[in-house]
Formats: sequence, structure tokens, C-alpha cells
Amino acid sequence: MTKKELENKLIELCKKNIKSCSYEELYTALLNITEEESAKHVEAVTGRKLYYISAEFLIGKLLSNNLINLGLYDDVKKLLEANGKSMAELEETEPEPSLGNGGLGRLAACFLDSLATLNLPGDGIGLRYHCGLFRQNFNNNLQNETPDFWLGDDSWAKKTEKVYPVSLAGKNYEARLYKIAVTGYEGRTNCLNLFDLDTIDPSVIGDGISFDKNDIEKNLTLFLYPDDSDDAGRILRIYQQYLMVSAGAQMILEDAVERGSDLHDLADYAAVQINDTHPSMVIPELIRLLTEKGIEFEEAVEIVTKVCAYTNHTILAEALEKWPRHFLETVVPQLMPIIEKLNHIVCDKYNDQAVAIIDQWQNVHMANMDIHFTHSTNGVAALHTEILKNSELNHFYRLYPERFNNKTNGITFRRWLLKCNPELTAYIEKLIGPGFKKDASELEKLAAFADDEKVLKQIMKIKKNNKKAFAQWLEAKQGITVNENSMFMIQSKRLHEYKRQQLNLLYLIHQYYEIKAGHLPKKPITAVFGAKAAPAYTIAKDIIHALLTLSEVIAADPEVSKWLQIVFIENYNVAAAEKMIPACDLSEQISLASKEASGTGNMKFMLNGALTLGTMDGANVEIAEAVGEENIYIFGQSSNQVIRRYAQGDYCAKEWYEADSNIKRAINFLTSEAMLGAGCADNLYRLQNELIYKDWFQTLPDFNAYVVRKNQAVEDYALNQKDWAKRALINISKAGQFSSDRTIAEYNDEIWHLG
Ligand SMILES: *Cc1c(COP(=O)(O)O)cnc(C)c1O
Repeated sequence: MTKKELENKLIELCKKNIKSCSYEELYTALLNITEEESAKHVEAVTGRKLYYISAEFLIGKLLSNNLINLGLYDDVKKLLEANGKSMAELEETEPEPSLGNGGLGRLAACFLDSLATLNLPGDGIGLRYHCGLFRQNFNNNLQNETPDFWLGDDSWAKKTEKVYPVSLAGKNYEARLYKIAVTGYEGRTNCLNLFDLDTIDPSVIGDGISFDKNDIEKNLTLFLYPDDSDDAGRILRIYQQYLMVSAGAQMILEDAVERGSDLHDLADYAAVQINDTHPSMVIPELIRLLTEKGIEFEEAVEIVTKVCAYTNHTILAEALEKWPRHFLETVVPQLMPIIEKLNHIVCDKYNDQAVAIIDQWQNVHMANMDIHFTHSTNGVAALHTEILKNSELNHFYRLYPERFNNKTNGITFRRWLLKCNPELTAYIEKLIGPGFKKDASELEKLAAFADDEKVLKQIMKIKKNNKKAFAQWLEAKQGITVNENSMFMIQSKRLHEYKRQQLNLLYLIHQYYEIKAGHLPKKPITAVFGAKAAPAYTIAKDIIHALLTLSEVIAADPEVSKWLQIVFIENYNVAAAEKMIPACDLSEQISLASKEASGTGNMKFMLNGALTLGTMDGANVEIAEAVGEENIYIFGQSSNQVIRRYAQGDYCAKEWYEADSNIKRAINFLTSEAMLGAGCADNLYRLQNELIYKDWFQTLPDFNAYVVRKNQAVEDYALNQKDWAKRALINISKAGQFSSDRTIAEYNDEIWHLG
């Protein structure tokens, strides 16, 4: 499409000249143009096609991303600017799709982008949530949750005429298919298939995000991860999962038959990737459907095992779903006999309770079913996969060593560089040409400029500009002013104790005391947070409260606030991440070693020229290997030390608290007069007790090492900007291996064999 054609089309759709259009009108018109253009790149599928099934797709806003992928972005931007309009304001018009929660959902979105970019036939299957997770805002230093209604009149999710019958608890429902076009960068167009019921009714939502959990017809797809602190919430998750996999499985079979499959040869037509355990019921559901169509049970099991592969995302026990048998008997009675039979096969063959699907307490272990009845189980970073093989899933690894493999996560550079950091992208292109946009390994060519003063100056200038842009965005959004000349250290990710925002909190209290005592940091510090806490996760919410309260205490103290500021971004999502990441100097990746499966935030920051302060956990290990120890700040216990400590069960937080005056001082401060004056005693005391008496994620043993490494980073940053820029450049040049194009190519070569 030429620029002239684009202009004419816009005018035609809006029925007036561009100058007099509202942003809403322009957005709607561009959405239509994008859909028309992307439809031109839909390709007929021959051979094996991938279905990536996931409870979450954290896709972010789509307009700019699609325009970039379709090669229309620059023309649209120029056209708008020539008519007095700005791309940035246009982007504000688009609501962010609320279909995901964190890393796992974002990974699924990056994978769809890379599949289409690499010209591979691969679609997503998920649910069309009406309110997603929730919208977060802060009130009295507390997290407040409201429904995130994102489905406007002009959603990217197009309603189709297609419905699939799904039986839930013996009642028949119709799952309607919605489709979102997934564009590839100079590639093909694939599809994200989302299912929903026509009968959903938001009027069942009460205060905040509470709702009647029993009215399935009206509530089924309202929220992602409904509160599972009671049985009704947990059962609702099973309803959701089955709606997704049953409709998905029917669609997969229909697709295959349409393309010539006789179902015996389904594996030549379909590959299914199970993203974490939420879609695990697709295994018995596919078996059920195949036997219904006349295939013998044993053969159906064999077919499904060949078709399906499973990705494990965590070693946290709480996330390896297990459902009480009677929940499944209630919601999916048609699956229980199949799961039962699968369990028999396993028990007859191995006679080992540790690998059974149904345990002696009648819980059904979804991950166990996945490992037995798929041909591939993968972890998401080298260290994570090793931990799976050697400890968490060792019983299974010994049965199926050939099934276990690693696929280190990645991120799409289109969104996490081209889209979010256009100035850096243009500069890289000037230095090494445009090849890196499709072949990320070309970033290595940047290393040649590591000692080029002009280049380093420009890298610093771009960072400065991004910090300025972030500051303006923050001012407009939350009315907060930050010091652009300070060092920005950012920790943005879901709030979880294993990610240890509380360690960062203790550091900031420590800094507060040091500044009070006249020990000033070498450079003013701005500590930025972005994080949502699960609504029922009390301690996570207490950590948010403590950070917000501390922020208020510091802001009210002119002695300290000159040197230290804490900013908490409301409602952390993809749009916020796109603003924060390019502005970051120091990326905080401080999870307890062994607990973060991979992380992808770490990769985004690195790609945008931040240095990492991190533990040897998840993909941090591979980042450290790639950049070398002089270009990253590593601290803390190793994963082996942590695993040993858990095994011995002898960690006693109180001993660390009593033995270290800095730790004691920082933890005591949580319930100081100043903190209690600005915050809530209940929350602050609860968090304090948690840290002294429990500290399940071993914050205290890493405290001193964290303080030392972080202060080293502040000093290095303050004393030698040029050297910092050089190390940032090296980080960027080594980021190529963390492109999701590399990850997807590996999945395809080793698991899927598409096309
Ligand atoms: C990348 C991303 C995440 C994952 O961050 P981690 O640091 O890997 O946990 C979560 N949320 C959003 C919005 C993201 O963009």
C-alpha cells in the first residue's frame, strides 16, 4: 500500500480530511485498514500446523505493532504528523487487551509474533476474557482492584459465526469463536482463536472484582484467574479450562479433517503445545473426541502423545495444578473415565506413586498427565531445565530422559526494540544496517563500536531522551515528578515473594538510614516499581503497601528525598513496560536462585541497554554467560545452596535478623513511628512478622551481598558514564540470542516440525 493509497483510504473511511478527524475515528479507520492488509498475508496451510494453547496471551496494544509488521508504520506516522496528529496520542486511544497476567502470557504473545514472522503455520488458542485480570490503582497506599473492561466496540477480536458445543457439568453450552489476526514482520498472518459464551453478563460483578462465582452462564469468561481461595473459584477455573480445550480440540480436529486428515494421521496435520498446566485437559479431551469418532482407545492415546508437547513454567509447587477428583467429576464427568484409564496405564507400567496421575488422596496431577502423555517436556531456561531433570521432575526424567529438553525463552524484538525504542532502533540501523530486525544475531556487529566515543555518547543521549519521555509519561499519568538526572533502577514484574520485591524494599530502607547518617549515594537514585499482586495474596499486597508507604515517608523528608525517590507505576501492563524499559539504567532481577524459571523482563531490559543486577537464576545465568561478569552485577546464594537449604529445612530468618544490625534496623523500620504514621499497622506488622519468622524465600541471607553489589553499580554509574555506556552497548550486542525468533526456530526444529 503506497502512502497515497493509505491517505485516500483513511479519508474514505472517515468521510472527512485527516485534520478534522478525532483520534477515535482515526483509530477505527486504521484498525480496518490493518485488518484488510493483514488478510492479504493469510496463507493456506499444508502439512503440520501448530496450535499454541494457553490460558493467557498478554498481547499488548496491537495497532502500532501491526503497522510495523505490515511495513505501514512510518507512512502512517508521517501522514498523521503532516495533519497535526501524533502517533503517541493515537496509541492512547487503544485499550490494552486484558488477556494475560505476566511472563507466561507475554511469552505466548512473543511466540505468536515470531511464528508469523518466521512464516510458520501456528495459531493460538485461548479465552476471550471480558475483564482480564483486574485494573490496579492505589488508594491510601493500598492496591485497589476494579474490572478491566477492555472490549470496546472496535475490538481486534472479530466475532465469527462458528460455535462449538461444550458440555459442562452435564449442561450444554456454545463456545463462540473470535479471531484476532496475528501479523508477522514482513511475514505471514496467523490467528489467535479465542472462545467465549454469548451469555456472559457483567452485571453479576459486585464490589470491586467480586462476582457470583456460581452463575457459570454469566461469569465464565469474565475474569482471568478468578480468585481460587475458595472451592467455587477453583471449580470455576476448571470450567474455564475445559471450555477452552474442548472448543479448541474440536477446532483442531475439524481443521485437520478439512485438510485431508483421516485422524489416524492427525500428527501429520497438528502439533499442540500445552503452555503450562492450564490447558492439560486437552489431552483427555482429544482422546475422547477421537474415540467418539471410532478410533480405538490405545491408538487414540498414541496419536495424542505424538501430537502434544508440554512446557513447564515453574517449580513452585502451588503452580503445578492438582484438582480434587470430585471437582473434575462435577465439571467434566465425560473426562474422568479417560483420566482414570490413563492413570491405570501409568500405574500398571511403573508401579510408583510418585509418577501417578491420581494420588492416594484422590488429587489429579495435571503436570504428571502432561509428561506421560506428550512426547516432549521442556523447561524455559538452561538452569530451570536442569533443576527439572535433577530434582523437581527427576522421577519422570528417569522414565523418559529423551523427552526432556530445554527451550530458553525469548522476546520479540519487534515490540521490545522497534516499537518501544524507535530512537535506539534507528541508531543501531545506522551503525550496522537493518538486518538485525529479522536476524537478531546481527546485533553482535555492535561490539565493534564498544570503544567508539561518539557511539557511546550517542547511546547515553538516547537513554537520556528515553528517561525524559518516561518522566513526561509518568507526570501525565500519575502526577509524579522524577529527577531525570538520577539513576533509574527498575523492578517491574508480578508481585511475588520469590521475585523478592521485599529485598529491594529492605535495601531502600537501608539507603534511607545511610542518607540520614550523611552517607550519601554517589548519584541520586530513583527506584521504580511496577507490579500487580494477586487479589488473594495477602503478603504480596502488604509488600506493595510497605513500598508505597515508604515512598510517602521519603517524599516528606527533604533531607532524603533529594537523593532517593520511590515510584510505583499503577496498573503495570505491556504499555507501561514499553515506557519503562527503554528508560532503565539498572534492571532488577533479584529472584531467589532456583525459583525464577526464566524471566523475560531481564531480556527486554538488556536489549534496551540496561545493566542487570541479578541472582544466578533463570535466564540471568545465560545473560551473565553472554555478556561476561564485568558487564553484569551478580550477587547472592547459588541455586544449589538454596536447594540444599530447603532440603535441610534449617533456615531460620530470626537468627539472621538477630545477628545482623543492618537487617534488624531495616526490618524494625517497617513499624517505626514514621511508617505507622503514613501506613496501616495491620499490614506493616504482618509483613514484619513474615520477614522475621518465616521469610520463605530467603531474603535475609542475600541482603548484604545485594547492598554491596547495588552500591557498586551506583558508584560505577556515577563515576564513569562512558564505561557504563560501553557495558550497555555490550549488553545490547549480546541480546540476539534472546530473540523469540531463535526460541521458535528451536521449538520447530526439535519438537514441532511444521509445514
Ligand atoms: C515481560 C513482562 C512480564 C514478565 O516479566 P518478568 O520480569 O520476566 O517476570 C510481566 N508483565 C509484563 C507486562 C511484561 O511485559
